[in-house]
Amino acid sequence: MKIIMLGAPGAGKGTQAKMIAEKYGIPHISTGDIFRANIKNGTELGKEAKTYMDKGLLVPDELTVKLLLDRVAQEDCKNGYVLDGFPRTIPQAEVLDKALNELGDKIDYAVNVDVPDENIVNRMSGRRACLACGATYHLVHIPPKKEGICDNCGQPLVLRDDDKPETVKNRLKVYHEQTQPLIDFYTQKGVLKTVDGTQDMQDVFAAIVALLS
Ligand code: ADP
Ligand code: AMP
Repeated sequence: MKIIMLGAPGAGKGTQAKMIAEKYGIPHISTGDIFRANIKNGTELGKEAKTYMDKGLLVPDELTVKLLLDRVAQEDCKNGYVLDGFPRTIPQAEVLDKALNELGDKIDYAVNVDVPDENIVNRMSGRRACLACGATYHLVHIPPKKEGICDNCGQPLVLRDDDKPETVKNRLKVYHEQTQPLIDFYTQKGVLKTVDGTQDMQDVFAAIVALLS
């Protein structure tokens, strides 16, 4: 099963993608996590990506697309995957579509996690991330067992640089301009499924599972 998560930054794509990946036994692929791992390891790609990410801008398609196509060509993606944060532009979606087409394949579902902008700034300012394993928490809604420490790997949790309110506003603007058009793109392909992302995370997950079965 090949699934794409759509939705504004902070809508809960990553939270749901991890649960989907676990339930269906498929890899969770987050381009944001890949960029952050590159930043942490000080790679050239990481250095270049960071200049865009810190401003709330998208990393250019030239850097993003190849990275993603290489990742989905790996052995563990044979039976499907859940993409979180890719595609984010129509050209990215077209490249993915073409690459899958050439293999006689296609995206099965594009799950749109719908959360209004008013809720997003709160979600992002409360988000705490583990840069070591990619786990995310929320100070109020989904707190870690021990304050400031990742439940999974014991590393410290941080407020992402791009989750500061001034950057969040820019990311929302970029989302509406460049990513939201994907909702029409996947509607036309007949694979779009929308869930109400303002519900409790377990209820959002139950709604997604119902749509996928
Ligand atoms: P995205 O991957 O779309 O950017 P995340 O999955 O990281 O979003 O979620 C953004 C923030 O909102 C995180 O702090 C997360 O813990 C929290 N969150 C996710 N889903 C919900 C939910 N259903 N209700 C409340 N908070 C949530
Ligand atoms: P995310 O973790 O999905 O919120 O992504 C964090 C940041 O990484 C985004 O604000 C972008 O700067 C960059 N990014 C992640 N995925 C993509 C993508 N598919 N295209 C362009 N930029 C991306």
